Amino acid sequence: MDCRLWTADFFHRFAASNFLILASLNSDIIIAGAGPAGATASLFLCKEKIPHVIIDKAKFPRDKICGDALSGKVVEVLNKLDPSLVDKLYNDPALFLGSYGVKFAAPNSNYIDIPFKTDHLSQLKHAPGFIAKRIHFDHFLFQQIDRQYATIIEEAAITEINYTDEGVNIYYEQAGEKKTASCKLLIGAEGDRSIVARKLAHHNMEPEHYCAGLRAYYTGVKNFHPQDFIELHFIKELLPGYLWVFPLPNGEANVGVGMLSKAASKKKINLKQTMLKAIAENPTIKDRFKDAELIGEIKGWGLPLGSKKRKISGKNFMLTGDAASLIDPFTGEGIGNAMMSGMIAAVHAKRALQENRFDEKAMAAYDEDIYKCLWDELKLSHKLQKLTNYGWLFNFVVDKAAKSETLRNTLTAMLDSLEIRSKLRDPWRYVKLIFRY
Ligand SMILES: Cc1cc2nc3c(=O)[nH]c(=O)nc-3n(C[C@H](O)[C@H](O)[C@H](O)COP(=O)(O)OP(=O)(O)OC[C@H]3O[C@@H](n4cnc5c(N)ncnc54)[C@H](O)[C@@H]3O)c2cc1C
Repeated sequence: MDCRLWTADFFHRFAASNFLILASLNSDIIIAGAGPAGATASLFLCKEKIPHVIIDKAKFPRDKICGDALSGKVVEVLNKLDPSLVDKLYNDPALFLGSYGVKFAAPNSNYIDIPFKTDHLSQLKHAPGFIAKRIHFDHFLFQQIDRQYATIIEEAAITEINYTDEGVNIYYEQAGEKKTASCKLLIGAEGDRSIVARKLAHHNMEPEHYCAGLRAYYTGVKNFHPQDFIELHFIKELLPGYLWVFPLPNGEANVGVGMLSKAASKKKINLKQTMLKAIAENPTIKDRFKDAELIGEIKGWGLPLGSKKRKISGKNFMLTGDAASLIDPFTGEGIGNAMMSGMIAAVHAKRALQENRFDEKAMAAYDEDIYKCLWDELKLSHKLQKLTNYGWLFNFVVDKAAKSETLRNTLTAMLDSLEIRSKLRDPWRYVKLIFRY
């Protein structure tokens, strides 16, 4: 080897590595990912005036493949952060559409409309839930982050993580340059396929706790409920999963399908073909799509479900949102739990900083709080997900509820109350409930 070349190369590499060290960022807390989980963690840290860094591979506003339905849990977390945020959302009807209920369509094509929270609806200032394209909702959250406390790094994909004596080093690529950052506490919020979850918590994809999803945007879908109910269509071919049709502002609709990955591969289902066939042939929806047009491509992404308890923290790290696999296994709702976990992670980050403890034992209090808050609901939704294997049960419940106002009211209460929902976790309870009305 030519010695001069070697020397030049050595100096080049030496300078580059020194540059890396000089350019390395150092912060007590780094949040990986600025979706709903990461942005919420950041917002609560800002509220506590705690400096931190937040890194995302995308540039905001950015799209996220999703059904775009935001539940009451999202509203609850926003209210905890700052009640005026919810007013801001609802004051922009071109981007955020209020929704007052859900339509359930059974495999036999009969359906029922179940309003959310009928008893105290009159006291509500806004609709109980809303629908907004994620490109708008996530950007809205991102814009609220206070740059006085948060250093935001965009278009920076984290590629590697390792432990150091002081904490954690992360490696990321930005505009073709490799950079590093170090912290005492890393909050993993990079969604499905999280590097923090893989490298530090050793999580893998598990097909029995993972759902495959597709999303399409349409324009011209007709006959939505006047109060913009979201629609879940339990079509035989898609059980244990469903097709959704959600109204959006500006006359658009979010249409998609989701199915447990294990079941999809066992049944060898082509989700895209099944979805397009249902749109063309299913008696409940086909006429409503007669003049509809697909906007852009049909896109797919995974849903890591919270049907199993996992270790979601450890030495110098916590996992939030999809990185922690917290999606509701029955409804596929993940934004609310992502924000909830971001909020709880910020509380534990503050505590860890105050106590200067980032060891595994100290961080385990985060797992306890998350599962104290979410596990009952996740466990119950897992049971309900298993019931969706029984198409006949859906037909039966929907047929009965269509005729009985009392049963419909019970189902409304069930959407609102975990306690009432828990009474319906075994099929025998359904039978009793249905025969009572
Ligand atoms: C098809 C489908 C339909 C869904 N429908 C609904 C629904 O209607 N309602 C609902 O509540 N939930 C729904 N979900 C679930 C919901 O989308 C997720 O639960 C939610 O996005 C989780 O938020 P998050 O912040 O954890 O992750 P994400 O929203 O995925 O955000 C992660 C962020 O991390 C960034 N990132 C990723 N990798 C890196 C990296 N290496 N370096 C730096 N940054 C990185 C990404 O750019 C992104 O901004 C659906 C999911 C799918 C797939």
